[in-house]
Parts: sequence; structure tokens; C-alpha cells
Amino acid sequence: MISLVTGGAGFIGSHLCRRLIERGERVICVDNFISGTRRNIERLLSHPQFKLIEHDISEPLYIEEEIDWMFHLASLASPYYYLHYPIKTLKSGLLGTYNCLGLAKTKGAKFFLASTSEVYGNALVHPQKEEYWGNVNPIGVRSCYDESKRGAEALTYAYMRKHNIEVRVARIFNTYGPNMQVEDGRVVSNFIVQALKGEDITVYGQGRQTRSFCYIDDLIEAILKMCGTDYRLPLNIGNPEEIRIIDLANLILKMTNSRSKVRFLPLPEDDPEHRKPDISKAKSILRWEPKIGLEEGLRRTIKFFRGVLEEQKNL
Ligand code: NAD
Ligand code: UDP
Repeated sequence: MISLVTGGAGFIGSHLCRRLIERGERVICVDNFISGTRRNIERLLSHPQFKLIEHDISEPLYIEEEIDWMFHLASLASPYYYLHYPIKTLKSGLLGTYNCLGLAKTKGAKFFLASTSEVYGNALVHPQKEEYWGNVNPIGVRSCYDESKRGAEALTYAYMRKHNIEVRVARIFNTYGPNMQVEDGRVVSNFIVQALKGEDITVYGQGRQTRSFCYIDDLIEAILKMCGTDYRLPLNIGNPEEIRIIDLANLILKMTNSRSKVRFLPLPEDDPEHRKPDISKAKSILRWEPKIGLEEGLRRTIKFFRGVLEEQKNL
């Protein structure tokens, strides 16, 4: 089996590449390192089954190898990044998906799209089911991400209908764990890094907004299971354990024994109020459910960031 993973040097992509290699498969990783890093794939770089292509997927990609699976993960994914690079975000989601689907069609490969809970926008239905069409501001500051993923889903299903491509679409809810960047800007990495450095914990708004956090290993398990089924419609993948952001801040403060103080900052525009996946479909179709609870996942992630900050101190 040969898999091509776009965004393979990123947080989720690097875990996926490693797992595929561990299963004895060949992996071609395509990344332009805009938000990913070589550190995430350092151990894989010398592996004979692993190949890195440095390339921006919004430009067409030609490769010689036959491929069985195309996993399209390349996208700016943290609000901090996509608000800084809105056009690049749209290009990865739209042109990047178009290029990947074209390649999948040429190679006869199956296609996996990393979509997102953001397709539901500021959801009016709670928890969110796959049938919900969403409540997205099409011209707001987050629209570069939300609409790029909605467009990516539309392209995927157009290719499925028109060219009979085998597709899998995961609507991923907030996922966290090792291999996130110190500067990633998403809430779990921000709070842990701030707590470990003794800096103020930056809670946006009053922290009453909620998210549901899934540990990376559970997500990767679900992605691999999706490839093993023939279910073609979108599946919510996440952990339904919902928590308010202020409670997450206090939990991380407690778990890191930190003396940091909470600082309240303005709530970003269009920040969704609540997010929690309904995973009944994934449970019954994949026979999967998340196994790692928030405290255990945070414990592993805190350990990872302690190591990274220690490394940075010694440089
Ligand atoms: P990440 O930023 O860590 O990884 C994204 C990777 O894609 C990076 O290595 C980056 O350099 C690369 N990339 C971005 N644009 C590219 C381009 N044009 N060409 C080539 N490479 C490019 O983010 P992540 O959390 O690992 O997210 C991976 C995917 O999962 C994204 O598509 C994201 O939208 C989706 N997703 C993630 C979450 C989450 O909570 N982590 C939730 C929903 C969806
Ligand atoms: N958030 C926060 N402080 C931070 C980063 C994020 O309070 O330093 C909040 C953010 O406003 C949002 C939630 O945490 O309500 C999750 O944000 P994240 O950027 O991780 O991803 P999102 O779910 O918004 O895509």
C-alpha cells in the first residue's frame, strides 16, 4: 500500500504518517511547512518507506508512484494562523482539494478529506449531527476556513458522483496532543504553554463558550477505521466530553501546578459558542468511540510540551 498524506508534517498528519509506516505501508508526505515542522517527522525521514515532497498543494502535483490512498490534510487549521493567512487557507481548501482529487482520479486512488466541525459554524443545533447543514457567516473572518472546507466537501462529492471516486470525509472536532506547535495558537497548546512558562492564561470572552476535545490517538484510530469501511458520507469524529473554556483553563492550571493567572481578553469575532459532536454514526458504523478522557490526554500533552520547552531552553 502507498499512501500520500498532504499536511503530513503537521500535528495530525505526522501521527497518521507514523501509524501508516508502523503498519508496513509506504508513505509520501507532501507539506510546505507553513504550520508544520520537520521535527514532527524527524524519525520518519530516514525510514526507507517514507518520502517527503516539499510542495504547496494549492499548486498542481505530479508524482511517478502509483498511490492507493490520498489523505488530504493540508490546511491552516488554527484560527490564529488562518486569520493571518486567509487567502492561503482558501487556496489549500479549494485549489488544494481540487489538485488532490485530480491526482486521486488519475491514479485510481481512494480519497480521504480532513474536514471539520467548523462546517457547522455557530451551530444552532446541539450536539451537532451530520445532517445539520450549519450556520456559517459566509463573509466573516472565519469564512476563509469554514467555506474552504465546505467547498472542499462539495468538490469531494462532485468528484464522487461524476468520476466515481471512493471518498471518506471526517468532520473532525477539536483534537489535541503531542506534535502541536508551541506557537500553534489553539486553546489547549496555548494554555499548557502559558501555564508551564508561568505566563497569564489568555481566556477569550468570559470563557463560557464550550468545546469537546478529542485526544489524537483516538482520532487516528477513527481515520484508519474509516478507510476500512465503505461508508462514503461525512462522519463526525471527536470526543463528546464537553467543557467550558474557563474550566479547561482551571484544569490545566491545576494539572501543571502553575501559578499563572487567568487574563480575560476580547472574544474573537464569530467564535462558535458551543461545539459537541453527535458521534452515534461513527460509533455504529466504525464500532469506534474515544477511549482517552480529557485528563489523561492532557497529562500526555503536558508531558510533551514540558519536553519541548526544556529542549528550547537548552538550545
Ligand atoms: P497543522 O497546522 O498542525 O497541520 C497542517 C499541515 O498542513 C502543516 O504541516 C502545514 O505546513 C501543511 N500545509 C498547510 N497548507 C499547505 C499547503 N498549501 N501545501 C502543503 N502543505 C500545507 O493542523 P492539524 O491540526 O494537524 O490539521 C490537519 C487537518 O485536520 C487540517 O485539514 C484541519 O483543517 C483538519 N482539522 C483539524 C482539527 C484539529 O482540531 N486539530 C479539527 C478539525 C479539522
Ligand atoms: N481560546 C481562548 N484562549 C486562547 C485560545 C483560544 O480562550 O488562547 C478559545 C477560543 O476563543 C475558542 C476556544 O478557545 O472559543 C477554542 O479555540 P481554538 O482556537 O482552539 O479552536 P476553535 O475551536 O475556535 O476552532
